[in-house]
Amino acid sequence: MIYDYIIVGTGVAGLSAARYLPLDKKVLIVCKKSPWECNTFYAQGGVASAVDHNDIELHVKDTLVAGVELNDKKAVQTLSEHSIDAIKDLMNSGMKFDLNDKGNLAYTKEAAHSRNRILHADGDATGRELHMFLLKNCKHEVVADSIVIDLLYEDGVCHGVHLLQNGKDRIVYAHNTILASGGVGSIYRYHTNSTTIAGDIQGICVEKGIPLKDMEMMQFHPTVFLDTPNARKTLLTEALRGEGAQIEDEEGFRFLQKYHKDAELAPRDIVSRAIFDYSQRTGSKIYLSFKNFSKRFFKKRFPNIYKNFMELGFDLPFERVPISPAFHYSMGGIDVDINARVKGTKNLYAIGEVACTGVHGANRLASNSLLEGLVFSKICVAFALKEDFKIDFKNFNKIKKHFILQKAGDKAIKNALRNLMWTKVGIVRINQNLIDSLDEINLYLNEDIGRLLFLRLLTAKSIIKSAINRKKSIGAHYIKEI
Ligand SMILES: Cc1cc2nc3c(=O)[nH]c(=O)nc-3n(C[C@H](O)[C@H](O)[C@H](O)COP(=O)(O)OP(=O)(O)OC[C@H]3O[C@@H](n4cnc5c(N)ncnc54)[C@H](O)[C@@H]3O)c2cc1C
Repeated sequence: MIYDYIIVGTGVAGLSAARYLPLDKKVLIVCKKSPWECNTFYAQGGVASAVDHNDIELHVKDTLVAGVELNDKKAVQTLSEHSIDAIKDLMNSGMKFDLNDKGNLAYTKEAAHSRNRILHADGDATGRELHMFLLKNCKHEVVADSIVIDLLYEDGVCHGVHLLQNGKDRIVYAHNTILASGGVGSIYRYHTNSTTIAGDIQGICVEKGIPLKDMEMMQFHPTVFLDTPNARKTLLTEALRGEGAQIEDEEGFRFLQKYHKDAELAPRDIVSRAIFDYSQRTGSKIYLSFKNFSKRFFKKRFPNIYKNFMELGFDLPFERVPISPAFHYSMGGIDVDINARVKGTKNLYAIGEVACTGVHGANRLASNSLLEGLVFSKICVAFALKEDFKIDFKNFNKIKKHFILQKAGDKAIKNALRNLMWTKVGIVRINQNLIDSLDEINLYLNEDIGRLLFLRLLTAKSIIKSAINRKKSIGAHYIKEI
């Protein structure tokens, strides 16, 4: 059987694409583990949107300023112009965003936005609410516990995917393949991402010669609570700072004012680097303080953070929380055109965090990523339906491969890779360290390793190579001269 569409990933991008595919199309959506184990589910802050047509120009400007104009301007314009309809479309279908006391949409502010334009749901659980809404309304077949380990890709045409479904090989043919598999979090030692997010698909792209772009542009979130046993660290959303939370040292000194005029509301890369630099120079622990909040307001606006930190032993907003930056978001990804089609291919698409539409440039403006998933999934489906590409089996050279997912020595190398990415390809980069890292990765690639680690290493290699090629600091890519 040939599917019309296979969608890899059940985050905002994948589920939103599925929502636009008519029921007479045969669609398969696959994900690792369970459908809600994805970054979308964990998103707290909200979805950015131009508030009205007059705000498009400013939303575009803010996005370009955050991205240091490395953005693709057409993609940014498209994102903002489509944002109002994307939100209306969701709300008309029943998605509920929080309202203010007057019953209007409660827009909030986040770092580097010049005005309030972030919508949220259930206070600080926007991702969870959006994900539950999309999953509940998904009318196509979703199959969990399915890892894509290869693309059936040849000469610009994708014939589908090679899956490991519940541990068993399965080949799925499809006329169109939509990659919505998210970013690369698990290749960094400290990160905020779901454990399903490991950059495997980006690795397959490297292997097949499918183009990646801006892979050095990795965003580090400044306010993460590291002291938890899980690999995924607890994020303290940007919206907290938008509403007045302050970053301070052990003595209560707000040192960020020395680094940027916008202090806590400066772009993420600046705040992350300032924290990194200040703590290295002074040895001080860094805290997020909530002393500007009343308990009533805090509990209402951030109910989930209040509850989660209560369980971790913090009485918010009265106590401050020790924080550190951690890897958060991949601006780079699979190089796509304005219709989300992967460059140089006929029927392969990429949407959401796995894609590089160019919307984010050198740094993502807060809360633009859920929006990107919503907007470009719709554009992608509309374009693919119009193209109506059909694969032709006669032209596909079916090579049956067998992959071993994991091998005995993988764990040690995986941990070494995570450390290497954190210490040498992280917030502050030194050219010689990047060159050394590349040598180290090449050594690991020569070991007898499993398929998943192999793919992670290829993704890491592409990040390091791009970082070496980008000689000057810009946005999230910061090269320290020594
Ligand atoms: C803690 C946190 C808070 C955030 N807060 C915000 C916010 O407030 N606002 C905002 O705009 N953005 C936020 N972001 C970023 C945003 O959540 C993500 O960029 C966005 O959700 C990505 O959506 P996606 O659909 O591209 O991928 P994801 O939601 O990450 O989904 C990826 C899917 O791909 C599947 N997958 C991965 N690899 C494979 C494979 N090999 N085979 C099969 N399936 C695979 C996964 O199982 C998963 O289903 C946050 C991110 C995090 C981690």
